[in-house]
Amino acid sequence: MNDQHDCHQILGSLMDYFDGTLPEELCAELEAHLCECQNCQIVVNTTRKTIELYQTAAKEEGAIPAAVRSRLFTRLNLDDYRP
Ligand SMILES: [Zn+2]
Repeated sequence: MNDQHDCHQILGSLMDYFDGTLPEELCAELEAHLCECQNCQIVVNTTRKTIELYQTAAKEEGAIPAAVRSRLFTRLNLDDYRP
């Protein structure tokens, strides 16, 4: 079943997840949730593609700049999911 509270928590951790700064335990939780939640799978896939586009365009490696992050959240309407 889709638990809205979990979705908020998961999507709130998403940028840390992509940055590689999310603790391993929370990564596992996020991945477990993704197996059960199609809604979050779509958000994650969209976010991943968007990040790849930004990184390719900027030819940057490593962490995503804060400004790009906040643009991503806005673009993906993730503000609703922020903790
Ligand atoms: Zn979810």
